[in-house]
Amino acid sequence: MRVPFVDLHAQYLSIQEKIDAAIADTISQTAFIKGPYVKQFEERFADYIGVRYCVGCANGTDSMEILLRAYGIGPGDEVIVPANSWISTSEVVSTAGAKPVFVDVDPIYYTIDPEKISAAITANTKAIIPVHLYGLPADMDQIMEIAGKHRLIVIEDCAQAHGAEYRGKRVGTIGHAASFSFYPGKNLGAYGDAGGLVTNDEAIARQCRIIGNHGQLQKHHHQIEGRNSRLDGMQAAILNVKLDYLEEWTEARRRAASKYLRLLKDTFLQLPQAPAYSRHVYHLFVVQTDNRETVQQRLNAKGVASAIHYPTALPMLPAYEFLGCAEADFPVAVTAAEQILSLPMFAELTDAQIEYVCSILQ
Ligand SMILES: *Cc1c(COP(=O)(O)O)cnc(C)c1O
Repeated sequence: MRVPFVDLHAQYLSIQEKIDAAIADTISQTAFIKGPYVKQFEERFADYIGVRYCVGCANGTDSMEILLRAYGIGPGDEVIVPANSWISTSEVVSTAGAKPVFVDVDPIYYTIDPEKISAAITANTKAIIPVHLYGLPADMDQIMEIAGKHRLIVIEDCAQAHGAEYRGKRVGTIGHAASFSFYPGKNLGAYGDAGGLVTNDEAIARQCRIIGNHGQLQKHHHQIEGRNSRLDGMQAAILNVKLDYLEEWTEARRRAASKYLRLLKDTFLQLPQAPAYSRHVYHLFVVQTDNRETVQQRLNAKGVASAIHYPTALPMLPAYEFLGCAEADFPVAVTAAEQILSLPMFAELTDAQIEYVCSILQ
């Protein structure tokens, strides 16, 4: 048996007719840029998350950077980000002209450790970007309390957590604004790059729309210099089809995760945990072991793909050498980078595939 890490083709086959029709419609209506599918998706996604506004963007990195710019965050400002994430989270802080300040993560949940945030706040701190990493919500109550005390903006990085819930609230509705990625491998994925931001703040939504469309709301009325970062019409049409399946796919991921947890509970692996009040959407199923290389080789030899998210803690990347961060300040993220391993996880994963993977890990 072979078990891929993700199988985007299996998902396409399950909805092929609808996807093909959506693509054909976009072409026959030449709704390539803006147009009805983009508008429809923005409205439906905002409804799904439970916010008033969604602004589609070219990708989930742009949507976060555009939010930072809309909040006026730039040179001289600092933004707190977790030490374990995909580089976009810290990259956007730099591309907006501000300075990323890393904070270590929790050893069980891998999300930003709220206990360590206060020590990282200075007079220049303007925002916190918590990441709902692997599909598990960060500890938002504590983060919002700290942010409130210091008047900081909270931008949730929801790129891995479409539909995840924290104490009954969907992620993306808790901070001041939030950013989503629709990269093909994400829980809600387009067939190319795509992203979007959500907020209840009308002025911020409007400013983001201006920034992402050359500084204009109306053609040729350029109020500022913006950029070109719009959600593509064809991707929006595809996302409209896929949004109808998101809950079903999320439940399939959660079932797969329960099965993994059951079959791996007596093994040497540290398994992913979620607080009872969270709805984990398992973008990734991440285990931890001090024996990672051997485990990965064993899986590989038996035809099971795995991956590492992420092999280097962000502050230790060559890209951040200029910050002069010390490993000793991020013990959890540095150890995790050496020990974590992501097992195959996607909605179409079969019971037989999960049983096979787990049989190798006993
Ligand atoms: C995927 C991802 C992003 C960025 O998304 P793109 O659409 O690829 O630009 C941002 N943050 C995290 C945590 C991600 O996983």
